[in-house]
Amino acid sequence: MTFELVVRNGTVVTSSATYQADVGVHDGKIAAVADELHGEREINAVGKYVIPGGVDIHVHMQMSLGDGVVSSDDFFTGTRAAAFGGTTTLIDFVEPEPQQSLLEGLAARRAEANPQVVIDYGLHMTLGPDEKDKLDQVQAAYDAGCGSFKLYMAYGFRLDDGQLLSALAAIKQVGGQPVIHCENWDVILTLIQRNLEAGRTAPHWHPRSRPAPLEAEAAGRAIDIASYVDAPLHIFHVSCAAVVERIRSARALGLPITGETCPQYLFLTQKAYDAPGLQGTLPICSPPLRPQADQDALWRALGQGDLQLITTDHCPFVLRDKARGLEDFSKIPGGVPSIEMRLAGAYQGVDRGYYSLNRWVDLCCSAPARLAGLSSKGDIAIGLDADLVVFDPERQVTLSTDFLHEQCDWTPYDGIELQGWPEVTISRGEVIVRDGEFQGEPGRGRFIARR
Ligand SMILES: [Zn+2]
Repeated sequence: MTFELVVRNGTVVTSSATYQADVGVHDGKIAAVADELHGEREINAVGKYVIPGGVDIHVHMQMSLGDGVVSSDDFFTGTRAAAFGGTTTLIDFVEPEPQQSLLEGLAARRAEANPQVVIDYGLHMTLGPDEKDKLDQVQAAYDAGCGSFKLYMAYGFRLDDGQLLSALAAIKQVGGQPVIHCENWDVILTLIQRNLEAGRTAPHWHPRSRPAPLEAEAAGRAIDIASYVDAPLHIFHVSCAAVVERIRSARALGLPITGETCPQYLFLTQKAYDAPGLQGTLPICSPPLRPQADQDALWRALGQGDLQLITTDHCPFVLRDKARGLEDFSKIPGGVPSIEMRLAGAYQGVDRGYYSLNRWVDLCCSAPARLAGLSSKGDIAIGLDADLVVFDPERQVTLSTDFLHEQCDWTPYDGIELQGWPEVTISRGEVIVRDGEFQGEPGRGRFIARR
């Protein structure tokens, strides 16, 4: 067989093994993993790790919050930044308009993404309160490739417990994977109102209006309802030890419950909200950043198997939009940019001894692909898509807006030093980033139908 591309002399790292081998690519697929392969184009990976392309199953590109506020990465700039960071597949969301069917919503979101994406992508279908009369369309959405469904316990998308039960049952019926945002919205609204009435308007009061024990209460309630209808459940953006505890107990009972955390919870703490002026508004995200003890617990949970994946919840808003909440923390658009530093950020867990190289690959590549039904992604094995990253464990980088490629005029990770960085990113056999240079094309990414 002739190979279009061979990645030579690297150390192949998968979720289960670490070994020296060359990886040969034919027709966009991994065609051989063996010694002494040669091809039309060769990349020398000596001294580097060759890992599956990263899979980030939680991102929000060009997401409108209304009133002209839109997350600042579009499907081109966001997927390009992902590629620079070693991510080759992501999953964004469909949020159907009230008058749209689920399939119309899906078609509209695909039409936004398709001309722009530089890596492959899938979409979660959001089932909000407006979708309570559309549950008979869940099968059609699943058949169209939305293998997973997003449920909210907060914001205007919030489902009450009865709606949650009905949605989970409908998703279970078709064999889909529910993913959920867990917070106690009634408590949050009450605390926000109490704080604002007392003149406590600074970002300092954001985490104090969204308490960790109530994030855990919501997660526990969602787990109990899922368990009652015998559905699996994936808990999004776990911010604290209290939620880890709920996931751990459910899994100890054998329930199909999984959880993820994100770089913002692993690298930042709630102290960031005490920075003066606009600075304190920037890291507003929900659930909020927590104290150091929670951050430490999250790293340990990733190593001990109590959390199963690392995603980003990438949702950047520019300074001008964050400034809308200078006088009222509850008006600050929630979300931070993390998509580019996720893989290297997670590598710090290896460097710091929280988990193994193989566990790192599982957390960032293999486990997200398995959970999201991306059967051609997330591993290095013959026949799978040739989505590969050559990762240089010796490279040291200092994060800044100049270094990163996200379309955002700030980063929460400014000045943070990371050990290790992706050097080459390959998507279906095509080199799309090499040595800091983008070589891909908008629109080359494909929608992946997932089961
Ligand atoms: Zn999100």
